[in-house]
Amino acid sequence: MTGSTLENIVHQLYAQSNTHCNSGSVANYIPQLAEVAPEKFGIHLCEVSGNSYSVGDSTEKFSIQSISKVLSFALAYTLVGEAIWTRIGVEPSGTAFNSLIQIEIERGIPRNPFINAGAIVVADILLSKLPQPQEDFLNFIRGINNLDHLDYSPVITASEKAVGYRNIALCNLMKSFGNIDNEPEAVLDFYFLLCSIEMSCQELSQLFLFLANNGISPHNHKTILSKSQTKRINALMQTCGFYDESGEFAFKVGLPGKSGVGGGIIAILPNQYSIATWSPRLNSKGNSVKGIHFLEAFTSASENSIF
Ligand code: GLU
Repeated sequence: MTGSTLENIVHQLYAQSNTHCNSGSVANYIPQLAEVAPEKFGIHLCEVSGNSYSVGDSTEKFSIQSISKVLSFALAYTLVGEAIWTRIGVEPSGTAFNSLIQIEIERGIPRNPFINAGAIVVADILLSKLPQPQEDFLNFIRGINNLDHLDYSPVITASEKAVGYRNIALCNLMKSFGNIDNEPEAVLDFYFLLCSIEMSCQELSQLFLFLANNGISPHNHKTILSKSQTKRINALMQTCGFYDESGEFAFKVGLPGKSGVGGGIIAILPNQYSIATWSPRLNSKGNSVKGIHFLEAFTSASENSIF
């Protein structure tokens, strides 16, 4: 498919999703997220070949929330290697992003790194391994694509911390099973910080392009992950990126991806492109209604997915 055809499809389907798909509501369990204008809608697609296409609110920053779980996991994976799988599994959870029930039954080992429990274990690993965790993580994500202005949002961090009861419970439960090494309060502070990263669709799609390019940043040719690690992270996004809606996202869209309760979605077509969407209205599973609607229409119209 030519670049101009892909661009036309992005524009046409953006207009369609914008008009016909206005259900869902903005996340309000984190007070600061409830302040975001629900009608925001942006898309940015970057091709490995160098083309990129943008539409709508694609340069406006938003809270990427759980999308950062892919980045924190990527860094922990490079630091710990395959030993990481002794502390986190690789199966879809089939439960909500912040569910406690499996952690009790499965004795403190989270099903995968992309549910809250898994990302809290990843935060614990990074705290143990990095000399200056906050700065080192920021430098890691900035270095992927020379996006030097990426940053945490202290306002979002504080807002989530003030009401983080379920995450506090998850961290303490895992500590009781011996799967958290550091003090729970320090782990949670770092976890909330990781969730607070802000980016635009343009930055998000640029940043994640290495996952469509066998782990190498097409921008500065840096190797971020090995080919095998990249395969595994894409596989985990395919099977676990949308909580208990992961099967439905695979069924409808057919791309590895990850969502966040800020309304963002990143999706990857290996060897071709990364695409970021942002629309804050969420369905009951915590995933962006408009984002999923657009991506389903997009892979159908472009007749291109991993299947
Ligand atoms: N910071 C959010 C939480 O821990 C992340 C959830 C999400 O984006 O899915 O609840």
